Amino acid sequence: MAGSAAVRVSHPPPADQPAEVELPRLPTEDTRPMSRISALRGPRPSSLPTTVVPRFGVQTDQEAQLAKELEDTNKWGLDVFKVAELSGNRPLTAVMFSVFQERDLLKTFQIPADTLLTFLLTLEAHYHADVAYHNSVHAADVAQSVHVLLGTPALEAVFTDLEVLAAIFACAIHDVDHPGVSNQFLINTNSELALMYNDMSVLENHHLAVGFKLLQAENCDIFRNLSAKQRLSLRRMVIDMVLATDMSKHMSLLAELKTMVEMKKVTSLGVLLLDNYSDRIQVLQSLVHCADLSNPTKPLPLYRQWTDRIMAEFFQQGDRERELGLDISPMCDKHTASVEKSQVGFIDYIAHPLWETWADLVHPDAQELLDTLEDNREWYQSRIPCSPTHTVGQERCGPDRFQFELTLEEAEEEEEEGLAQH
Ligand code: AMP
Ligand code: MG
Ligand code: ZN
Repeated sequence: MAGSAAVRVSHPPPADQPAEVELPRLPTEDTRPMSRISALRGPRPSSLPTTVVPRFGVQTDQEAQLAKELEDTNKWGLDVFKVAELSGNRPLTAVMFSVFQERDLLKTFQIPADTLLTFLLTLEAHYHADVAYHNSVHAADVAQSVHVLLGTPALEAVFTDLEVLAAIFACAIHDVDHPGVSNQFLINTNSELALMYNDMSVLENHHLAVGFKLLQAENCDIFRNLSAKQRLSLRRMVIDMVLATDMSKHMSLLAELKTMVEMKKVTSLGVLLLDNYSDRIQVLQSLVHCADLSNPTKPLPLYRQWTDRIMAEFFQQGDRERELGLDISPMCDKHTASVEKSQVGFIDYIAHPLWETWADLVHPDAQELLDTLEDNREWYQSRIPCSPTHTVGQERCGPDRFQFELTLEEAEEEEEEGLAQH
Protein backbone atom coordinates (compact mmCIF):
# COMPACT_ATOMS: atom_id res chain seq x y z
CA MET A 1 0.00 0.00 0.00
CA ALA A 2 3.00 2.31 -0.29
CA GLY A 3 1.94 5.77 -1.42
CA SER A 4 -1.75 5.14 -0.77
CA ALA A 5 -3.81 7.11 1.72
CA ALA A 6 -4.94 4.00 3.58
CA VAL A 7 -3.23 2.27 6.48
CA ARG A 8 -3.46 -1.42 7.23
CA VAL A 9 -4.63 -2.18 10.71
CA SER A 10 -4.85 -5.61 12.26
CA HIS A 11 -8.00 -6.43 14.23
CA PRO A 12 -8.57 -9.62 16.15
CA PRO A 13 -10.04 -11.69 13.29
CA PRO A 14 -13.45 -13.35 13.65
CA ALA A 15 -13.11 -16.95 12.46
CA ASP A 16 -14.74 -16.32 9.08
CA GLN A 17 -13.03 -13.04 8.18
CA PRO A 18 -9.57 -12.10 6.92
CA ALA A 19 -7.14 -10.72 9.47
CA GLU A 20 -6.41 -7.41 7.77
CA VAL A 21 -8.95 -4.68 7.24
CA GLU A 22 -8.41 -1.52 5.20
CA LEU A 23 -9.32 1.63 7.07
CA PRO A 24 -9.21 5.22 5.83
CA ARG A 25 -6.29 7.30 7.12
CA LEU A 26 -7.05 8.62 10.56
CA PRO A 27 -7.06 12.41 10.92
CA THR A 28 -4.52 12.20 13.76
CA GLU A 29 -1.94 10.51 11.51
CA ASP A 30 1.12 12.71 10.92
CA THR A 31 0.80 13.93 7.35
CA ARG A 32 4.26 15.49 7.39
CA PRO A 33 6.51 12.43 7.60
CA MET A 34 9.73 14.33 6.84
CA SER A 35 9.17 16.77 9.66
CA ARG A 36 9.99 14.22 12.35
CA ILE A 37 13.25 12.58 13.35
CA SER A 38 12.22 8.99 13.56
CA ALA A 39 14.45 7.79 16.38
CA LEU A 40 13.20 9.96 19.17
CA ARG A 41 11.61 7.83 21.80
CA GLY A 42 8.98 8.86 24.30
CA PRO A 43 10.10 7.13 27.47
CA ARG A 44 12.81 8.82 29.47
CA PRO A 45 15.81 6.82 30.62
CA SER A 46 15.07 4.94 33.80
CA SER A 47 17.96 6.29 35.85
CA LEU A 48 17.51 10.04 35.49
CA PRO A 49 19.20 12.02 38.20
CA THR A 50 17.28 12.96 41.26
CA THR A 51 18.52 15.81 43.44
CA VAL A 52 21.97 14.37 44.13
CA VAL A 53 24.35 13.94 41.21
CA PRO A 54 26.35 10.71 41.63
CA ARG A 55 30.13 11.01 41.47
CA PHE A 56 30.37 9.61 37.93
CA GLY A 57 26.85 10.42 36.88
CA VAL A 58 25.64 6.82 37.12
CA GLN A 59 23.99 4.86 39.90
CA THR A 60 26.30 2.04 40.91
CA ASP A 61 27.08 0.00 43.99
CA GLN A 62 30.62 -0.46 42.67
CA GLU A 63 31.67 3.18 42.82
CA ALA A 64 35.13 2.44 44.21
CA GLN A 65 35.98 0.04 41.34
CA LEU A 66 34.49 2.44 38.81
CA ALA A 67 36.63 5.23 40.27
CA LYS A 68 39.69 2.99 39.87
CA GLU A 69 38.95 2.29 36.19
CA LEU A 70 38.23 5.94 35.48
CA GLU A 71 41.65 6.90 36.83
CA ASP A 72 42.73 5.86 33.32
CA THR A 73 40.51 8.52 31.69
CA ASN A 74 43.61 10.28 30.27
CA LYS A 75 45.23 7.07 29.02
CA TRP A 76 45.16 5.24 25.69
CA GLY A 77 43.96 1.84 26.84
CA LEU A 78 41.26 2.74 29.39
CA ASP A 79 39.19 -0.44 29.74
CA VAL A 80 35.88 0.91 28.51
CA PHE A 81 34.32 -2.57 28.68
CA LYS A 82 35.06 -2.65 32.41
CA VAL A 83 33.56 0.83 32.73
CA ALA A 84 30.43 -0.49 30.99
CA GLU A 85 30.20 -3.39 33.46
CA LEU A 86 30.74 -1.24 36.54
CA SER A 87 28.34 1.51 35.50
CA GLY A 88 25.26 -0.63 34.88
CA ASN A 89 25.94 -0.39 31.14
CA ARG A 90 26.20 3.40 31.09
CA PRO A 91 29.79 3.75 29.82
CA LEU A 92 29.05 6.81 27.69
CA THR A 93 27.57 8.73 30.62
CA ALA A 94 30.38 7.72 32.99
CA VAL A 95 33.21 8.44 30.52
CA MET A 96 31.78 11.74 29.30
CA PHE A 97 31.10 12.90 32.84
CA SER A 98 34.67 12.05 33.76
CA VAL A 99 36.13 13.79 30.67
CA PHE A 100 34.00 16.94 31.18
CA GLN A 101 35.18 17.14 34.78
CA GLU A 102 38.78 16.43 33.85
CA ARG A 103 38.69 19.29 31.34
CA ASP A 104 36.66 21.59 33.57
CA LEU A 105 34.09 22.03 30.80
CA LEU A 106 31.17 22.36 33.23
CA LYS A 107 32.70 25.52 34.69
CA THR A 108 34.00 26.96 31.42
CA PHE A 109 30.63 26.69 29.69
CA GLN A 110 28.42 26.93 32.78
CA ILE A 111 26.83 23.57 32.20
CA PRO A 112 24.72 22.54 35.22
CA ALA A 113 25.73 19.04 36.34
CA ASP A 114 22.14 17.77 36.38
CA THR A 115 21.58 19.02 32.82
CA LEU A 116 24.75 17.33 31.60
CA LEU A 117 23.68 14.14 33.27
CA THR A 118 20.12 14.24 31.93
CA PHE A 119 21.47 14.83 28.43
CA LEU A 120 24.06 12.04 28.67
CA LEU A 121 21.60 9.48 29.99
CA THR A 122 19.09 10.44 27.29
CA LEU A 123 21.78 10.25 24.60
CA GLU A 124 23.01 6.90 25.88
CA ALA A 125 19.43 5.55 25.86
CA HIS A 126 19.29 6.33 22.13
CA TYR A 127 22.21 4.01 21.36
CA HIS A 128 20.99 0.44 20.75
CA ALA A 129 22.21 -1.91 23.48
CA ASP A 130 21.29 -4.90 21.27
CA VAL A 131 23.61 -3.83 18.42
CA ALA A 132 26.91 -5.67 18.83
CA TYR A 133 29.42 -2.94 17.91
CA HIS A 134 27.71 0.41 17.28
CA ASN A 135 26.37 0.81 20.80
CA SER A 136 27.22 3.26 23.58
CA VAL A 137 30.44 1.43 24.49
CA HIS A 138 31.82 2.38 21.05
CA ALA A 139 30.66 5.99 21.50
CA ALA A 140 32.33 6.12 24.93
CA ASP A 141 35.51 4.67 23.42
CA VAL A 142 35.64 7.23 20.60
CA ALA A 143 34.93 10.14 22.96
CA GLN A 144 37.61 9.06 25.43
CA SER A 145 40.10 8.39 22.61
CA VAL A 146 39.60 11.89 21.20
CA HIS A 147 40.06 13.31 24.69
CA VAL A 148 43.47 11.60 24.84
CA LEU A 149 44.45 12.61 21.28
CA LEU A 150 43.57 16.24 22.04
CA GLY A 151 46.03 16.07 24.92
CA THR A 152 48.98 15.15 22.69
CA PRO A 153 51.96 17.53 23.16
CA ALA A 154 51.96 18.66 19.50
CA LEU A 155 48.44 20.05 20.01
CA GLU A 156 49.02 21.72 23.37
CA ALA A 157 46.95 24.91 23.58
CA VAL A 158 46.24 24.71 19.83
CA PHE A 159 42.47 24.32 20.10
CA THR A 160 40.06 26.62 21.89
CA ASP A 161 37.77 25.36 24.66
CA LEU A 162 34.84 25.58 22.23
CA GLU A 163 36.65 23.43 19.66
CA VAL A 164 37.48 20.87 22.34
CA LEU A 165 33.86 20.83 23.50
CA ALA A 166 32.69 20.41 19.90
CA ALA A 167 35.08 17.50 19.22
CA ILE A 168 34.11 15.59 22.36
CA PHE A 169 30.39 16.21 21.82
CA ALA A 170 30.74 15.12 18.16
CA CYS A 171 32.22 11.80 19.31
CA ALA A 172 29.49 11.25 21.87
CA ILE A 173 26.73 11.61 19.27
CA HIS A 174 28.63 10.29 16.23
CA ASP A 175 26.81 6.91 15.97
CA VAL A 176 23.63 7.54 17.99
CA ASP A 177 20.62 5.41 16.99
CA HIS A 178 22.83 3.26 14.75
CA PRO A 179 20.71 0.34 13.55
CA GLY A 180 23.67 -2.06 13.12
CA VAL A 181 23.68 -2.02 9.32
CA SER A 182 25.71 0.02 6.82
CA ASN A 183 24.73 2.94 4.60
CA GLN A 184 24.81 0.63 1.58
CA PHE A 185 22.39 -1.79 3.25
CA LEU A 186 20.00 1.07 4.06
CA ILE A 187 20.20 2.26 0.45
CA ASN A 188 19.77 -1.23 -1.04
CA THR A 189 16.71 -1.94 1.10
CA ASN A 190 14.97 1.40 0.31
CA SER A 191 14.90 2.27 3.98
CA GLU A 192 13.15 5.34 5.39
CA LEU A 193 16.52 6.76 6.36
CA ALA A 194 17.96 6.45 2.85
CA LEU A 195 14.82 8.11 1.52
CA MET A 196 15.10 10.89 4.07
CA TYR A 197 18.71 11.70 3.17
CA ASN A 198 18.71 10.90 -0.55
CA ASP A 199 21.28 8.13 -0.13
CA MET A 200 23.97 10.62 0.96
CA SER A 201 25.85 9.92 4.22
CA VAL A 202 22.57 8.48 5.44
CA LEU A 203 23.66 7.31 8.87
CA GLU A 204 25.92 10.24 9.59
CA ASN A 205 23.16 12.75 8.79
CA HIS A 206 20.84 10.80 11.05
CA HIS A 207 23.27 10.64 13.98
CA LEU A 208 23.64 14.43 13.77
CA ALA A 209 19.91 15.09 13.56
CA VAL A 210 19.19 12.85 16.55
CA GLY A 211 22.11 14.20 18.58
CA PHE A 212 21.03 17.82 18.14
CA LYS A 213 17.34 17.02 18.56
CA LEU A 214 18.02 15.43 21.97
CA LEU A 215 19.37 18.76 23.23
CA GLN A 216 15.77 20.01 23.01
CA ALA A 217 14.44 17.41 25.45
CA GLU A 218 13.60 18.59 28.97
CA ASN A 219 16.67 19.74 30.92
CA CYS A 220 18.98 18.46 28.16
CA ASP A 221 20.34 21.67 26.65
CA ILE A 222 23.92 21.54 27.82
CA PHE A 223 24.73 24.50 25.54
CA ARG A 224 22.11 26.85 26.94
CA ASN A 225 24.65 29.19 28.52
CA LEU A 226 26.70 29.56 25.34
CA SER A 227 26.26 32.72 23.28
CA ALA A 228 24.30 32.48 20.02
CA LYS A 229 27.57 32.85 18.13
CA GLN A 230 29.26 30.07 20.09
CA ARG A 231 26.28 27.76 19.54
CA LEU A 232 26.34 28.35 15.79
CA SER A 233 30.07 27.86 15.60
CA LEU A 234 29.93 24.66 17.67
CA ARG A 235 27.07 23.29 15.57
CA ARG A 236 28.96 23.91 12.34
CA MET A 237 32.07 22.15 13.64
CA VAL A 238 30.13 19.17 14.97
CA ILE A 239 28.34 18.74 11.64
CA ASP A 240 31.65 18.91 9.77
CA MET A 241 33.23 16.35 12.11
CA VAL A 242 30.43 13.78 12.15
CA LEU A 243 29.87 13.93 8.37
CA ALA A 244 33.59 13.19 7.97
CA THR A 245 33.14 9.85 9.78
CA ASP A 246 31.41 8.48 6.65
CA MET A 247 33.91 5.89 5.34
CA SER A 248 33.28 6.99 1.75
CA LYS A 249 35.13 10.20 2.71
CA HIS A 250 38.12 8.31 4.11
CA MET A 251 40.46 8.52 1.12
CA SER A 252 39.92 12.21 0.46
CA LEU A 253 40.38 12.99 4.16
CA LEU A 254 43.61 11.02 4.19
CA ALA A 255 44.87 12.72 1.02
CA GLU A 256 44.24 16.13 2.60
CA LEU A 257 45.98 15.09 5.79
CA LYS A 258 49.03 13.97 3.81
CA THR A 259 49.15 17.34 2.09
CA MET A 260 48.98 19.03 5.49
CA VAL A 261 51.90 16.92 6.73
CA GLU A 262 53.95 17.98 3.69
CA MET A 263 53.20 21.66 4.32
CA LYS A 264 53.37 21.32 8.11
CA LYS A 265 53.85 24.60 9.97
CA VAL A 266 54.84 24.77 13.62
CA THR A 267 54.93 27.69 16.04
CA SER A 268 58.01 28.80 17.96
CA LEU A 269 56.70 26.66 20.83
CA GLY A 270 56.90 23.58 18.62
CA VAL A 271 53.14 22.99 18.38
CA LEU A 272 51.12 22.85 15.15
CA LEU A 273 50.26 26.19 13.57
CA LEU A 274 46.68 26.14 12.30
CA ASP A 275 45.69 29.67 11.33
CA ASN A 276 42.43 29.24 9.41
CA TYR A 277 39.12 27.37 9.79
CA SER A 278 39.86 24.97 6.98
CA ASP A 279 43.10 23.72 8.58
CA ARG A 280 41.64 23.63 12.07
CA ILE A 281 38.55 21.67 11.11
CA GLN A 282 40.63 19.34 8.97
CA VAL A 283 42.73 18.36 11.98
CA LEU A 284 39.61 18.00 14.14
CA GLN A 285 37.94 15.81 11.49
CA SER A 286 41.07 13.66 11.28
CA LEU A 287 41.20 13.40 15.06
CA VAL A 288 37.62 12.12 15.28
CA HIS A 289 38.09 9.80 12.30
CA CYS A 290 41.30 8.39 13.82
CA ALA A 291 39.50 7.77 17.13
CA ASP A 292 36.68 6.04 15.21
CA LEU A 293 39.29 3.76 13.57
CA SER A 294 41.40 3.29 16.69
CA ASN A 295 40.52 -0.33 17.60
CA PRO A 296 43.75 -1.81 16.18
CA THR A 297 45.91 0.73 18.04
CA LYS A 298 44.61 -0.35 21.46
CA PRO A 299 46.15 -3.02 23.72
CA LEU A 300 45.42 -6.41 22.15
CA PRO A 301 42.87 -7.65 24.73
CA LEU A 302 40.73 -4.58 24.02
CA TYR A 303 41.25 -4.74 20.25
CA ARG A 304 40.16 -8.40 20.20
CA GLN A 305 36.89 -7.55 21.92
CA TRP A 306 36.20 -4.86 19.32
CA THR A 307 36.93 -7.34 16.54
CA ASP A 308 34.48 -9.87 18.01
CA ARG A 309 31.82 -7.21 18.20
CA ILE A 310 32.26 -5.74 14.72
CA MET A 311 32.37 -9.18 13.10
CA ALA A 312 29.19 -10.22 14.96
CA GLU A 313 27.46 -7.10 13.62
CA PHE A 314 28.80 -7.62 10.09
CA PHE A 315 27.69 -11.28 10.09
CA GLN A 316 24.22 -10.32 11.24
CA GLN A 317 23.96 -7.87 8.35
CA GLY A 318 25.24 -10.61 6.03
CA ASP A 319 22.52 -12.97 7.26
CA ARG A 320 19.87 -10.37 6.49
CA GLU A 321 21.37 -9.75 3.04
CA ARG A 322 21.33 -13.51 2.32
CA GLU A 323 17.69 -13.78 3.41
CA LEU A 324 16.75 -10.83 1.21
CA GLY A 325 18.61 -12.25 -1.80
CA LEU A 326 21.01 -9.26 -1.88
CA ASP A 327 24.74 -9.41 -2.56
CA ILE A 328 26.49 -10.05 0.75
CA SER A 329 28.68 -7.08 1.73
CA PRO A 330 32.45 -7.47 2.18
CA MET A 331 33.42 -9.13 5.50
CA CYS A 332 29.73 -9.91 6.21
CA ASP A 333 29.46 -13.51 4.98
CA LYS A 334 29.94 -15.76 8.01
CA HIS A 335 30.45 -18.77 5.72
CA THR A 336 33.43 -17.33 3.83
CA ALA A 337 34.89 -14.36 5.76
CA SER A 338 38.10 -14.75 7.70
CA VAL A 339 38.17 -12.63 10.84
CA GLU A 340 41.98 -12.51 10.84
CA LYS A 341 42.26 -11.59 7.14
CA SER A 342 39.62 -8.91 7.58
CA GLN A 343 41.62 -7.29 10.37
CA VAL A 344 44.95 -7.47 8.52
CA GLY A 345 43.24 -5.98 5.46
CA PHE A 346 41.58 -3.27 7.52
CA ILE A 347 44.96 -2.37 9.03
CA ASP A 348 46.93 -2.53 5.77
CA TYR A 349 44.52 -0.58 3.57
CA ILE A 350 42.73 1.71 6.00
CA ALA A 351 43.99 2.00 9.58
CA HIS A 352 47.79 1.96 9.13
CA PRO A 353 47.94 4.53 6.30
CA LEU A 354 45.77 6.85 8.41
CA TRP A 355 47.62 6.40 11.69
CA GLU A 356 51.01 6.62 10.01
CA THR A 357 50.02 10.00 8.58
CA TRP A 358 48.63 11.14 11.94
CA ALA A 359 51.87 10.05 13.58
CA ASP A 360 53.83 12.16 11.05
CA LEU A 361 51.68 15.17 11.87
CA VAL A 362 52.24 14.96 15.62
CA HIS A 363 55.70 13.37 15.48
CA PRO A 364 56.99 11.84 17.73
CA ASP A 365 53.91 11.76 20.03
CA ALA A 366 52.15 8.76 18.44
CA GLN A 367 55.10 6.39 18.12
CA GLU A 368 53.97 4.02 20.87
CA LEU A 369 50.50 3.78 19.42
CA LEU A 370 51.90 3.02 15.96
CA ASP A 371 54.09 0.26 17.45
CA THR A 372 51.03 -1.32 19.09
CA LEU A 373 49.20 -1.16 15.74
CA GLU A 374 52.05 -2.96 14.01
CA ASP A 375 52.34 -5.61 16.74
CA ASN A 376 48.61 -6.22 16.58
CA ARG A 377 48.80 -6.61 12.80
CA GLU A 378 51.48 -9.27 13.24
CA TRP A 379 49.32 -11.05 15.81
CA TYR A 380 46.39 -11.37 13.40
CA GLN A 381 48.66 -12.06 10.41
CA SER A 382 50.28 -15.00 12.23
CA ARG A 383 46.83 -16.48 12.79
CA ILE A 384 45.76 -16.50 9.16
CA PRO A 385 45.60 -20.16 8.24
CA CYS A 386 47.51 -20.84 5.01
CA SER A 387 46.01 -23.53 2.77
CA PRO A 388 48.56 -26.04 1.33
CA THR A 389 48.15 -24.56 -2.18
CA HIS A 390 48.97 -21.12 -0.85
CA THR A 391 52.39 -21.68 0.62
CA VAL A 392 54.54 -19.32 -1.44
CA GLY A 393 54.95 -15.78 -0.20
CA GLN A 394 53.10 -13.91 2.50
CA GLU A 395 50.75 -12.18 0.07
CA ARG A 396 48.77 -15.30 -0.70
CA CYS A 397 47.81 -15.83 2.92
CA GLY A 398 47.12 -12.15 3.35
CA PRO A 399 44.05 -10.01 2.98
CA ASP A 400 42.14 -9.27 -0.21
CA ARG A 401 42.30 -5.68 -1.32
CA PHE A 402 38.87 -6.08 -2.90
CA GLN A 403 37.24 -6.14 0.54
CA PHE A 404 38.01 -2.47 0.91
CA GLU A 405 37.51 -1.51 -2.69
CA LEU A 406 34.21 0.20 -2.06
CA THR A 407 35.92 2.77 0.10
CA LEU A 408 38.96 2.98 -2.15
CA GLU A 409 37.04 3.27 -5.41
CA GLU A 410 34.67 5.92 -4.17
CA ALA A 411 37.59 7.99 -2.99
CA GLU A 412 39.44 7.57 -6.26
CA GLU A 413 36.35 8.71 -8.12
CA GLU A 414 36.08 11.70 -5.83
CA GLU A 415 39.74 12.51 -6.40
CA GLU A 416 39.27 12.24 -10.16
CA GLU A 417 36.24 14.50 -9.97
CA GLY A 418 38.28 16.92 -7.90
CA LEU A 419 41.08 16.86 -10.48
CA ALA A 420 38.59 17.35 -13.31
CA GLN A 421 37.26 20.46 -11.61
CA HIS A 422 40.69 22.05 -11.45
P1 AMP B 1 31.65 3.88 12.30
O1 AMP B 1 30.71 2.95 11.64
O2 AMP B 1 31.17 5.27 12.47
O3 AMP B 1 32.17 3.34 13.60
O4 AMP B 1 32.84 4.06 11.25
C1 AMP B 1 33.95 3.28 11.25
C2 AMP B 1 33.93 2.23 10.16
O5 AMP B 1 35.26 1.76 10.01
C3 AMP B 1 33.10 1.00 10.51
O6 AMP B 1 31.78 1.08 10.09
C4 AMP B 1 33.85 -0.08 9.76
O7 AMP B 1 33.46 -0.10 8.41
C5 AMP B 1 35.29 0.36 9.84
N1 AMP B 1 35.96 -0.25 10.99
C6 AMP B 1 36.26 0.31 12.19
N2 AMP B 1 36.88 -0.55 13.00
C7 AMP B 1 36.99 -1.70 12.29
C8 AMP B 1 37.54 -2.98 12.58
N3 AMP B 1 38.11 -3.24 13.76
N4 AMP B 1 37.44 -3.93 11.61
C9 AMP B 1 36.88 -3.67 10.41
N5 AMP B 1 36.36 -2.49 10.09
C10 AMP B 1 36.41 -1.51 11.01
MG1 MG C 1 29.36 6.05 12.04
ZN1 ZN D 1 31.83 4.97 15.00
